[in-house]
Amino acid sequence: MNANSIFTPGLVAAQQPTWPNADELKAAVRELESFPPLVFAGECDNLKKRIGQAALGNAFWLQGGDCAETFAAATADSIRNRIKTILQMAAVLQYFSSLPVLKVGRMAGQFAKPRSNETETREGVTLPAYRGDAVNDLEFTKQARTPDPKRLVRVYNTSSATLNLVRAFTQGGFADLRQVHSWNKGFTADARFSARYEEMANEIGRAIQFMQSAGVDPESFKSVDFYSSHEALILEYEKALTRIDSRTNNPYDVSAHFVWIGERTRQLDGAHMDFAEKIHNPIGVKLGPKSKPEEVLAIVKKLNPTNEPGRLTFITRMGAGLVREKLPPLIEAVTKSEAVILWVCDPMHGNTHEAPSGYKTRRFEDVIDEVKGFFEVHKKMGTHPGGIHIELTGDDVTECVGGGEAIGYEDLSSRYETACDPRLNHTQSLELAFLVAEMLRDRKK
Ligand code: PEP
Ligand code: MN
Repeated sequence: MNANSIFTPGLVAAQQPTWPNADELKAAVRELESFPPLVFAGECDNLKKRIGQAALGNAFWLQGGDCAETFAAATADSIRNRIKTILQMAAVLQYFSSLPVLKVGRMAGQFAKPRSNETETREGVTLPAYRGDAVNDLEFTKQARTPDPKRLVRVYNTSSATLNLVRAFTQGGFADLRQVHSWNKGFTADARFSARYEEMANEIGRAIQFMQSAGVDPESFKSVDFYSSHEALILEYEKALTRIDSRTNNPYDVSAHFVWIGERTRQLDGAHMDFAEKIHNPIGVKLGPKSKPEEVLAIVKKLNPTNEPGRLTFITRMGAGLVREKLPPLIEAVTKSEAVILWVCDPMHGNTHEAPSGYKTRRFEDVIDEVKGFFEVHKKMGTHPGGIHIELTGDDVTECVGGGEAIGYEDLSSRYETACDPRLNHTQSLELAFLVAEMLRDRKK
């Protein structure tokens, strides 16, 4: 059933493309409206319950994937490598935190990007900015950069194929904990990385052996729950995939289990927040360093007036230099209001800078430092550092500098493949997992 009438008409929607042809857009939306859901509303409810447990300190959230998925990179290898990386990270985090880890991909729908500038100029030529494969193409030609609504249908089809493979991998034996552990052992045996990681991996290995020798072989060793998520940005797409759930009569955005509203589109009186308010999925809101406590409380009131646990997640992205100063007043206000919120750290978006060569990059050390600051603040405030949100890929790209491989500015050009922001590569992602696992282990000391 179509749910379009639930949204407030006439609100301003920030960061939307200027579609050149209204009829073509209408045709694409009509087609999307006829397609089956990508996820089941009941799965969204399950995730919401589990986020509720995490918000209360009883689980940890791991969300990762590309800044911008592309149609070209939706290949078996690329999808497998991303899933594998997230599962490896989750195993390490789970062991050292002694908490269940919620595994969430920035995957199967993360095809649209907000941009700081509407246009891009190169050598005197100005064209519309790349807004993600959902809208236009990265190539710098007029034709490629002209928004094309047919791409929205391709987003659906590519998300559907991606999700199908994700479900096959995570249910069909690929996610077996013993298998994941042997991958991690391979990584920690590499002499370039700290012996500390090898010790941690060996410890996990002994625990698995102990369970096996005791005859424990739980089903949960073999398959895992894996959820999809993306930024709800292009409202035509998200609204066309919002349906009334036949069990509950409530509207759900069935394009993903979890969607979030970005830092640039979370105006309280804007169309994105109205959208988030109306759907029943668990939702996230990004909070940057300019966020004020009153504003954060107003978001809570709008999006979760009944204080349903798991409904609302704040994903903070302050920057390594600001997190220790900017995060405490927000947590203090929320805690005082008694709102149940999951706090997640995005250590990527506040730590972007330009390398001398012009590449957009991030320092691995800054990423780690923001997570460290996030843990310090939560410890001081007595609240749960509930999770991390990471831009990563399973491939050996060179987009972020630093880490054990010591990628330098001069190395960036060798494998810089992102369509938007720089991602941690496979190795950097695992290093991050081991470092965050130590923080989780020590969080109550
Ligand atoms: C993103 O997550 O890619 C993004 C654009 O983040 P933010 O809204 O926090 O800037
Ligand atoms: Mn990004």
